[in-house]
Amino acid sequence: MLANRRIVDNRGVDLHCILVLRIEVSRPYNPGGRRPTPPMNRSTLRALDRDLDGDVVFPGHPGYDSARMLWNAMIDKRPSVIVRCLSDSDVAMSIRFASEAGLALAVRGGGHSVAGNSSCDGGLIVDLSRMRQVTVDPRSRRAHVAGGAVWADVDGRCSEHGLHTTGGVVSSTGVAGLALGGGIGWLSRLWGHTCDNLASARVVTASGEVVTASERENPDLLWGLRGGGGNFGVVTRFEFSLHPVTTVVGGWLKFPWDRARAALETYRDVMAEAPDRLSAAAILTDDRDLGPVVALVPCYVGRTDDAERWIDALRAPGPLFDDVGEKRYVEHQTIYETPPPPPMGHYWKSNFFRELDGGSIDALISAAELEFRPGLVISLEVLGGAASRVSADEAAFAHRAELYNYLADAGWVDPTDAERSIDWARRASALMEPHLSPGNYVNYMSEDDQPDPAERVRRAYGSVGGARLISLKDRYDPGNVFRLNHNIPPSAAATHQ
Ligand code: FAD
Repeated sequence: MLANRRIVDNRGVDLHCILVLRIEVSRPYNPGGRRPTPPMNRSTLRALDRDLDGDVVFPGHPGYDSARMLWNAMIDKRPSVIVRCLSDSDVAMSIRFASEAGLALAVRGGGHSVAGNSSCDGGLIVDLSRMRQVTVDPRSRRAHVAGGAVWADVDGRCSEHGLHTTGGVVSSTGVAGLALGGGIGWLSRLWGHTCDNLASARVVTASGEVVTASERENPDLLWGLRGGGGNFGVVTRFEFSLHPVTTVVGGWLKFPWDRARAALETYRDVMAEAPDRLSAAAILTDDRDLGPVVALVPCYVGRTDDAERWIDALRAPGPLFDDVGEKRYVEHQTIYETPPPPPMGHYWKSNFFRELDGGSIDALISAAELEFRPGLVISLEVLGGAASRVSADEAAFAHRAELYNYLADAGWVDPTDAERSIDWARRASALMEPHLSPGNYVNYMSEDDQPDPAERVRRAYGSVGGARLISLKDRYDPGNVFRLNHNIPPSAAATHQ
């Protein structure tokens, strides 16, 4: 508890006054220009300080720079207040506090938003990164996951029971942002996306009320949380369905660049016939040891004997490197992880698409050949399977008919490489453009994707689901308190645009 604790900086200076002053002079949050910004006074800040279970970080605090840091080092926003929540009531209080102080409000789970939506300049961050508890009930095959957990927390706990849900493929990624936007992982084809496995959620709404979304209580909200992003409230607890998974057959097959076309054609042909148990990514990049490669990364959930036929088919073009074998699923969940790299800036361009035909393979190869440099990566995720059999009534995630997701990830360590890297991602995606669907995966969208708000909603959430999501937004967040995300504006805001 912060009761009776003063907010002081590392020099022992009382920061109440400084903070109040900073917030009063910072640009006010005033959605739609309709609400005047109420001044924030010292007693309001004291009330927050006194009542929180967690704590508050602010400019000048020794933890401020690490607390405001996101995965994407390109994002350098300076919030006025970061509330490191420990409970539902902390979250509710933070929302109320931001609203009364007229501050923009960002919500942070695992901090992996590439667009940087989980931070803001001059506003308040509801930071859930200390709420990471995971419990598993093996009998009901359910996991209860706190709103700031990352996939390593979930996978670690679930593996004790040989039960898993579809998670992200990098274990440091937050559960919350990923699950709410969809959640594409190695198990998507077998068990559906992460959002399809969301059984219930506890949500703190814009008014500070704590509600449950489940099949029985507020089922419309549950539907919206399955793909509608962080538009409706702050989720403090997720309940996921679990499925038996212990070992998988997976690893890397790396093909030299002169076999790039053969590798991509093989990938397409094998995946067209593959059972739901097989998923695979294709990666076009400059490998540190082998130079330019197409890498196929299969993950077969099941016995090695059954997997062998499919893995052998993927091997057909003759890999230079092959470490595919049986391993624990949790081990495969860290396949993309290397010793922690220095903070890197990232810029992503991504779209779904339906056909990996000759034209799109040509375009992928040309896009990669624009420049080979460590940090520049084109990847394809294969969809389909169980994730394609979920109806629009069950989940807001709209892109069920898509077969692949394309991503150009430009990463750099040296900030002087930023412009050239971003330019590469844009040029690569321009080459792919004729082959891509209009739909965007909301979790991979960058800040500058689809600047027109209506088009953005259509592309991210689909037109049918989009209309239903707007009516949910009207009900749960009519004032658009949760707007620092790939925003679904309430109807009132849309008519003002
Ligand atoms: P944050 O940056 O913390 O939050 C992003 C947004 O989510 C916030 O703006 C907010 O709107 C919302 N949000 C966060 N927490 C909450 C909450 N508790 N309640 C309500 N809203 C909340 N995606 C996949 O589908 N599959 C992958 O395998 C995958 N791998 C990735 C690997 C890396 C290295 C990265 C950087 C991203 C990856 N992604 C993947 C994309 C990922 O789904 C998004 O970046 C997602 O936003 C990350 O969630 P987070 O909680 O870490 O994000």
